Amino acid sequence: MVTATHRESRVLVSEAAIQHNIHHALRRLAAGTALLAVVKADGYGHGLLRVARVAAASGATGFCVAVLDEALALRQAGFTQPILVLGIVDPRYADLAAAQDIALPVGSLAWLAAALPVLEAAKVKPLRVHLAVDSGMGRIGFRDPAALKAAAAFAAAQSVFDIEGLFTHFATADAADTTYFTTQVARFKAMLAALPTRPRYVHVANSATSLWHAACACNAIRFGVAMYGLNPSGREIPTTPYELEPALSVVSALSFTKRLEAGAAVSYGATYRAQAAEWIGTVPMGYADGWLRRLQGFHVLVDGQFCEIVGRICMDQFMIRLPHDYAPGTPVVLVGRSGGQAITLQDVADYSHTIHYEIACGLSERLPRESVNRI
Ligand SMILES: *Cc1c(COP(=O)(O)O)cnc(C)c1O
Repeated sequence: MVTATHRESRVLVSEAAIQHNIHHALRRLAAGTALLAVVKADGYGHGLLRVARVAAASGATGFCVAVLDEALALRQAGFTQPILVLGIVDPRYADLAAAQDIALPVGSLAWLAAALPVLEAAKVKPLRVHLAVDSGMGRIGFRDPAALKAAAAFAAAQSVFDIEGLFTHFATADAADTTYFTTQVARFKAMLAALPTRPRYVHVANSATSLWHAACACNAIRFGVAMYGLNPSGREIPTTPYELEPALSVVSALSFTKRLEAGAAVSYGATYRAQAAEWIGTVPMGYADGWLRRLQGFHVLVDGQFCEIVGRICMDQFMIRLPHDYAPGTPVVLVGRSGGQAITLQDVADYSHTIHYEIACGLSERLPRESVNRI
């Protein structure tokens, strides 16, 4: 998608906020525990390379990404830190990962067997692998200690593999009820015990685990959403051991304003009718930018005042009701602060019945990302 730099709508990213969140997370880690900054999905919508640069400068040891292409983009940009891909990569790309020193997750012996000839033919450095344990997430990984042990033995016998890690992922680390979390910890411990040697990195902690189950840091954490200043639980666990500072704001500016007479309609379907004479402003952003259609009826901030989104949100524009006339070019805050008021990603997520993760990474490439000091 083309990035619209000649339009006022943009995503502002506070590097200071990311740095703040990383510094506080690091302060709580035992010496020698690595913080792997999770920068998948374009750094949760904040910008892959920008976040990676700030994270590395703030003390992150390395990175986690979701897909091989994100890892390759980091290498292409010159990042030399350890990188782990979190999702299963087709074994036919094992040589590509090895050549670029990118670690891949492994969840079956079949994967290792398929990657073996690829790596042998390529004559590259050994492929770093992290054995994935499915302790209850039900997504990827070994579920049985014997299968894990057999795969580890297979990999250890081949010089093309370097077993660098063992990890698992929790399904409920962000929940107030810790019952299922405790079950997963026990299953993971049993799996770890099946290995004859402990890999260099043993890691289980996402953001939620690092915040509320600090004892489970092992020797690396995969620090994602909290790095961006967002509470992984949404509103379920409001207290965090340090203040999370949100890093992202979404801003635009009025592109057009007009006075509508009572009864005049706004947008597709003519679902909104002015109750009386009303000032209506147009905001040049829409669902193609990730501003969801179901946000109709929600609000934005103009000049420190909440203004309702009226009528259907279009692909590239939406309308708001203004308290009085404002000139085109007047700033509009979709996420962030204006005057004494604020709209958070959590507010947007609540209104649209989803989680802030989805709102952040849904902000499309059409919106330019810009660094600012503070949002
Ligand atoms: C995305 C992801 C993370 C990061 O999760 P946050 O909740 O954003 O901290 C960690 N581990 C795995 C396996 C993931 O897929």
